[in-house]
Amino acid sequence: MGETVTNWAGNITFAAKELHRPPTLGALRALVAGSARVRVLGSGHSFNEIAEPGDGGVLLSLDALPVEVDVDTAARTVRVGGGVRYAELARRVHAHGLALANMASLPHISVAGSVATGTHGSGVRNGSLAAAVREVEIVTANGSTVVIGRADERFGGAVTSLGALGVVTALTLDLEPAFDVEQHVFTELPLAELDFETVAAAAYSVSLFTDWRAPGFRQVWLKRRADQPLAGFPWAAPATEALHPVPGMPAVNCTEQFGVPGPWHERLPHFRAEFTPSSGSELQSEYLMPREHAVDVLRAIDAIRATVAPVLQTCEVRTVAADEQWLSPAYGHDCVAVHFTWVEDTRAVLPVVRELEAALEPFAPRPHWGKVYAVPAGVVRGRYPRIGDFRSLVRELDPAGAFTNAFVADVLGG
Ligand SMILES: Cc1cc2nc3c(=O)[nH]c(=O)nc-3n(C[C@H](O)[C@H](O)[C@H](O)COP(=O)(O)OP(=O)(O)OC[C@H]3O[C@@H](n4cnc5c(N)ncnc54)[C@H](O)[C@@H]3O)c2cc1C
Repeated sequence: MGETVTNWAGNITFAAKELHRPPTLGALRALVAGSARVRVLGSGHSFNEIAEPGDGGVLLSLDALPVEVDVDTAARTVRVGGGVRYAELARRVHAHGLALANMASLPHISVAGSVATGTHGSGVRNGSLAAAVREVEIVTANGSTVVIGRADERFGGAVTSLGALGVVTALTLDLEPAFDVEQHVFTELPLAELDFETVAAAAYSVSLFTDWRAPGFRQVWLKRRADQPLAGFPWAAPATEALHPVPGMPAVNCTEQFGVPGPWHERLPHFRAEFTPSSGSELQSEYLMPREHAVDVLRAIDAIRATVAPVLQTCEVRTVAADEQWLSPAYGHDCVAVHFTWVEDTRAVLPVVRELEAALEPFAPRPHWGKVYAVPAGVVRGRYPRIGDFRSLVRELDPAGAFTNAFVADVLGG
C-alpha cells in the first residue's frame, strides 16, 4: 500500500494507491466481483485519465498472470492474454513464421490496452490494430466470462471499448505469413504541391514527420514490404544518416533504416523494444480526420505553425484505413492521423492544443482516446454515429457501471 501509481509519461497520478496484480484468473475474477469500481491499467502508455478508476476504485494490472501466446499455425491466428505486450507477441508469432499485419510506432504497449483506444500504425490499406482482432474474452463485473467474436452483433463495440465493458483477459488475432520490410528515410519534403494520396501510398506504411518550423516535412519514413513492388520516391532526398523522428535524439533507439531488409516486427515500429521509445519526456495528442481532407488539414496546421512549433518535439502524419469498431477514431472512413509529440509541460501545451483543435474543427477531428485533447465530450460523442449502440452494450455487460469511470461517463453522456 501507499505506492504512487502513474502512467508511463508521469503526467497522470492515479487516485488508486495500489496496483493490484492478481496472479491467477481465479484471483482476478474474485477481485473484480468484489469491487464496486474497477479499471485495468495496461502498459500505461495513455496520456489522459482513461484508465483512472477514481477515488476508492480498484486499479488492476494483468502483468502477474502467466504470459499466454498460443499460435494456431493452421488457422493463422493467435490467442493472446490480456496483459501481453506487442514485443513479446511479435517475437513468438514470428518464431512460427507468421506476422501481424501492422504495428504501432512502439512494441512496448499491451495488445488489450492498444486496441481498447484504437491504436494504429500507418498505411493506406492498414486498419487500426483492432482490425486484426477476431474474438475478445471479457471478465465482466460479476466475475463471469463473455466471449464476443466477429459474428456477434455486439462485436462492433467489443474491441475498441475504452475498457468500459470489463477486463479483457484474452484476444484472438488474425495472422499472415511472415514478411520482410525495408525502411527507407527521406528528408525535406515541401508542403507546397504535396500530392498526399500518392505520397501516402508510396509504401506499405508511410509516416511524414515535421517540427512545423517550416512548411514541409523534415523526414519521410517508408516501410516497404519486400514482397511488394518497389516504387520510387522522387519528391525528397534519401537521408544520409540514420534519423530519430525527434530532432537531436539518438537514432540508436530506432529500428534499422537505409533499406536493410528485416523481419516485419523489427521494422514496422519506429522504436526498438529494448530502448525508450519516442523522447521519453513528452505529452502526445492525435486527431483522425477523413483522408480526403489531408492537404487542407496540413495547410490549416501550417497556418498556425508559429503557435504549434514552440511546444512541439515532432508531428507525425499517418494514414489509417476505415474500420467498423463503433468507437474507433477511424470508424466508417479512411483517415489521415495527425500526431503531436509535445514538450512535457501541460500548462504550456493545453492552450496550443485548444488553438490546434479550433483550426482542425472544420474537419470534425476524432481525438485519439489515449492522448491529450480538449474537445468537449459532447462534441466527440456526436462524431460517433454508433455511440447509442455502445451505450446499450455497456448497460448489458456492466449494468451497475463498475467499469464506467469519469472519462467513460463523459464520453457516453446521458
Ligand atoms: C511513446 C508512445 C508512442 C505511442 N505511439 C502510438 C502509435 O504509434 N499509434 C497510436 O495509435 N498510439 C500510440 N500511442 C498511444 C498508445 O498506443 C495508447 O495510449 C494505448 O492505449 C497504450 O496501450 P496501453 O496498454 O499502455 O494502454 P493503457 O494506457 O494502460 O490503457 C488504455 C485503456 O485500455 C484499458 N485497458 C488496458 N488493458 C485492458 C484490459 N486488459 N482489459 C480492459 N481494459 C484494458 C485501460 O483501462 C484504458 O482505458 C503511443 C504512446 C506512447 C507513450
